[in-house]
Amino acid sequence: MPGLLKRVLILLLVLLPVAAAAEPASWGSQGNRLELSRFVDYWAEPDGPVSLERVRQLSDDQWTDNGRDSVSLGYGDEVYWFRMSIDNPSGRYAQTFLEIGYPVLDRVEVYVLRDGEVAQQLVLGDKQPFYDRPIHHRHFLVPLDLEPGAALDIYLRVDTTSSMQVPLTLWDQDAFYAAEQSRSMFEGLYYGIILVMILYNLFVFMAVGERSFLHYVGYIAAMPLFLASLHGVAFQYLWPEATWWNDQAIIVFLNLVVLFGGTFSIRFISVTRENHRLLNSWTVGVVMAAAMLATAGLFVPYRLMILPTILLGAIGCTTMLILSVVRWIEKDAAARYYTLAWVFMLFGGIVLALSKFTMLPRNLLTENATQVGSALGVILLSVALADRLNREKKRSFEAQQQLLKQERKARLAQEKSLRVQQEANTLLEQRVHERTRDLEALNEQLLELSARDALTGLKNRGFFDRAFQSAVVKAYRFEQPLSLLVLDIDHFKKFNDTYGHLVGDDCLQMVAQCIRQFVTRPQDLAARYGGEEFVVLLPDTPEEGALRVAEKIRQEIGNTAFRVSDKMLHLTVSIGVCSTCPEEADATKQLFCRADEALYEAKGQGRNQVVIWRPDRYSTATAGA
Ligand code: GH3
Ligand code: MG
Ligand code: MG
Repeated sequence: MPGLLKRVLILLLVLLPVAAAAEPASWGSQGNRLELSRFVDYWAEPDGPVSLERVRQLSDDQWTDNGRDSVSLGYGDEVYWFRMSIDNPSGRYAQTFLEIGYPVLDRVEVYVLRDGEVAQQLVLGDKQPFYDRPIHHRHFLVPLDLEPGAALDIYLRVDTTSSMQVPLTLWDQDAFYAAEQSRSMFEGLYYGIILVMILYNLFVFMAVGERSFLHYVGYIAAMPLFLASLHGVAFQYLWPEATWWNDQAIIVFLNLVVLFGGTFSIRFISVTRENHRLLNSWTVGVVMAAAMLATAGLFVPYRLMILPTILLGAIGCTTMLILSVVRWIEKDAAARYYTLAWVFMLFGGIVLALSKFTMLPRNLLTENATQVGSALGVILLSVALADRLNREKKRSFEAQQQLLKQERKARLAQEKSLRVQQEANTLLEQRVHERTRDLEALNEQLLELSARDALTGLKNRGFFDRAFQSAVVKAYRFEQPLSLLVLDIDHFKKFNDTYGHLVGDDCLQMVAQCIRQFVTRPQDLAARYGGEEFVVLLPDTPEEGALRVAEKIRQEIGNTAFRVSDKMLHLTVSIGVCSTCPEEADATKQLFCRADEALYEAKGQGRNQVVIWRPDRYSTATAGA
C-alpha cells in the first residue's frame, strides 16, 4: 500500500467515531471541572422507547465512543442514549453538578447508577416546567455526590427536535457557583446594555420621529430575545411555565431578527428602490419570508420550522453583509459603521465556534463572544444612527442657512433697487420742481411783458384797464377818493412830421420817464394809454394831491430840454384830471370820460395846462407856459 494512502486511512480511523467503550472519567485529577465529552458512548434508539434495563444489556460494541471534545449529532428524528462512568480516585468526598449545557433539549431522562443500582432518576428538558428542575438554572444540572473510591454509571436518554447537542461538564459545586457569578454578571451586563439601547433609541425615535430608529429598536429587541431563548434565560425569567412556546420563541425571534435587520438595513444604508432595484427587491423578499416564517412560528411545530429558519437566517446574514459591503464600496457614509458592526457580530460567532472546537481557550470572553460581539455591534450601530441623524440635521441646517443667505441677498437687492427708484423719483421731483419754477418765472415774465408797453416801459392799456376797474371797486367799497390823470402831448403830429417817427419815439420815452418820477406811491399807476396819450391812476388821492402831481409832471416835461441834432427842443403836455369818490362800483367809464373831457378842455384853452373836471364847470389849475 502506498505510504500516503496508508496515512490517510489512519487519519480517518482516528477521526471517525469508533465502536468501543470509552474510558471512565476520573474526578479530581483535572481540578474543579471536567469536560465529559471524551468519556461518552452513545447509541441511537432504533424505534420505540426502550427501557433502561434493555440499554444496560447492550454489548460494548453496540455503543459508539464519542471520542471528541463535543457531543453534537445534528438534527434528526432519532432518540439517543448516552452513557459514561465517573470514578473518584481522589480519596475525597466531592459534591458535584453534572451540567448539560444545551438548554433547548426537549426531554432528558437521567439515570444515575451506584453499584449497579439506580440511585437517582429524573426527567429534565424544556418540555418540563422550569421549577421542576432540582437546581433552578438555565442549564440542566444534576447534583452528584461522589464517595471517595466509588464509581457512578450515568445513562441519559435524550429526545429532542432541536439539534442533538449534549455538552456535558462535571463541576465542583463551589467552583460552579463561583464561575456562575461571573457568568451572571456578564449576562446582566449584556442585557443591561441592550435594554438601555432599546430605551434610548425608542426615546430618540419618539423625539425625532425618524423611522430608522424604530426598525433598529425592533432589531436590537429581537436579537437578545432570540439569544435569551436559545440560552435558556428567557425560559428561566420570562416564561418558566410555557414549555411549548419556549421552542417556538427561538423560531419567532430569529425570524424577527432577520426581518428587522432587513428593514433597518434598507433604511439605514439606503438600499432603496432608486439606488439598487435588484438588491432592494431581494432584501424585501427576505424580509417578507422572515415575516411569514415568524408568523408561522406561532402555530407550526419547531421541528418543521427550524431548518427553514436557519436557512433564512443564513441567507439574511449573507444578504446584509453583501449590502453593507456594496454600500461601503459606493461610499455610503453609514455603511462603514454598519459593516464594522456586522464584523463584530460575526466575529463573536466565530470566536464562540472556535472555542467550542477547543481551537481557542475556553474563558469568560470566548464563552460569551456572541454577546460581546452583538453588544459592541449594537452600540456601534446606535452611534452610527446618531451620527447619521446629526449629519442630516447639519445638512438641513446648512440648506436653511443657504436659503437664508439667498433671501438676505434678495432683500438687499430689493432694498437697493427701491433706493435707486426713490433717488430717481426724488431727482424727477426736483427736476419737475425746477421746471415748474422756471415755467412760473417765465410765465411771470410773460405776464409782465404782456402788461408792459414795449416802447416806454410803462404799463400798457390792457393792464391799466384791469387795475383801473379794481381801483374803482375798492374806492367805492372804502369810500375813498380816486384820481385819474389823462395826458396828451401837444402838437405831437407836427413834431413827428417835422423830426420823424424815431425822434417822436424818443420823445415818448422821455415823457414816460418824467411821468415815472412823480408816480411814487406803491398803489399809484402810470400807463401808456395809446399813441402819445398817457394815464396816471392815483388811488386814495383827493383833488389837491392829484392836481399837485399833474402840475409837477406838466412842469417837468415842459422844463426838460430835448436835443435833436444841434437843436434843443421843448415839449408840452395837456392834462385832464378827474377826482371823485365813486358812487357806484362800475364807474370806470364815467370817470375816464370826465378826465378826457377835462383834457379836451385843456386843449381847447390853449394846451400846456392842467384842467380838473367839475360838475358845473372846468377848472384850470395852471396857466399855459
Ligand atoms: P393836439 O393833441 O395838440 O391837438 O395835437 P396833436 O398833433 O398831438 O394831435 P393828434 O392826436 O391828432 O396827433 C397825434 C399824433 O401823435 C399822430 C402821430 O403822428 C403821433 N403818434 C401817435 N402815436 C405815436 C407813436 O407811437 N410814435 C410817434 N413817433 N408818434 C406817434
Ligand atoms: Mg392825441
Ligand atoms: Mg396830442
